[in-house]
Amino acid sequence: MSAGSVAPSGPLAPGDLHLHSDHSDGTEPPAAVMAAAHRHGIRTAALTDHDTTSGWAEAADAAVSLGMSFLPGMELSARHEWRSVHVLAYLIDPDDAGLRALTDRIRESRLTRARTMADRIGRDYALTWEDIEAQTAEGATVGRPHIADALVARGHVRDRGEAFSGILSPRSDYYVALYAPDPVTAVAAVAGAGGVPVIAHPAGRAGLLPDRLVRGMLDAGLAGFELGHRENTEPALGTLRRLVAEHDLIATGSSDYHGRGKPNVPGENTTPEAAIARIVALGTGSSLVAP
Ligand code: AMP
Ligand code: FE
Ligand code: FE
Ligand code: ZN
Repeated sequence: MSAGSVAPSGPLAPGDLHLHSDHSDGTEPPAAVMAAAHRHGIRTAALTDHDTTSGWAEAADAAVSLGMSFLPGMELSARHEWRSVHVLAYLIDPDDAGLRALTDRIRESRLTRARTMADRIGRDYALTWEDIEAQTAEGATVGRPHIADALVARGHVRDRGEAFSGILSPRSDYYVALYAPDPVTAVAAVAGAGGVPVIAHPAGRAGLLPDRLVRGMLDAGLAGFELGHRENTEPALGTLRRLVAEHDLIATGSSDYHGRGKPNVPGENTTPEAAIARIVALGTGSSLVAP
């Protein structure tokens, strides 16, 4: 990161602390993602690509040149039984050995899994691994969204949404699970890397995580929940609001922008100044980059 990390002079809010670039399953390069956040009036933007920090340098430079603060982040894949749990990881040390071992293993498994899914789908549809590669930026974390884009390019489905509700659904015969650590291990790895772990979209369609798991994550250093996210629903959200108040946790709100890959718009949910300041005060693995 060429810009130095100094004490921010202006207000940090509104913040959008969950944005994806083409270093994972977003459709735009990191600089374009920062520009999109800026156009929507965001003052602090985090890049949170799945299982990688490779977009940070470009995003930080772009954010700072636009007069925004950049919060380094990642969205770490985890799994509890059959359901995927996403751990937002702010201000981690990108070179931490423990966390790197986890993300290397997840990314390796994502590759094998995408190849296997391509083989399975290829039995019924015209689709090859090369089609998927063509949709994936060099070095990016590969995922089902890239398979979806390949299916769109081949004319098998209209958009990512249609692919996810059919061919790519976990109920489909083509589906293969990826390796992901259990959420307590994931939270501990983020905390161990000096980061601030926050559970992404914690009240989505699958509903609340079991109480015991939440307590385990809190013991492992969980700092907060992403309460502002379009996929969260009541009554799970109400339960989480009470939990956040009871344990004085950090509540964030974000868009989960994926470029053209999802309808989510930067700034559709935002994080207030106080919550950003708490994250900045807690994180020790890397620093907020201020303009
Ligand atoms: P994966 O981690 O490879 O199993 O893929 C999950 C990713 O796909 C998540 O990070 C979401 O961003 C994305 N995703 C899930 N459902 C949809 C959908 N209906 N439309 C577009 N993207 C989706
Ligand atoms: Fe995603
Ligand atoms: Fe997610
Ligand atoms: Zn996300």
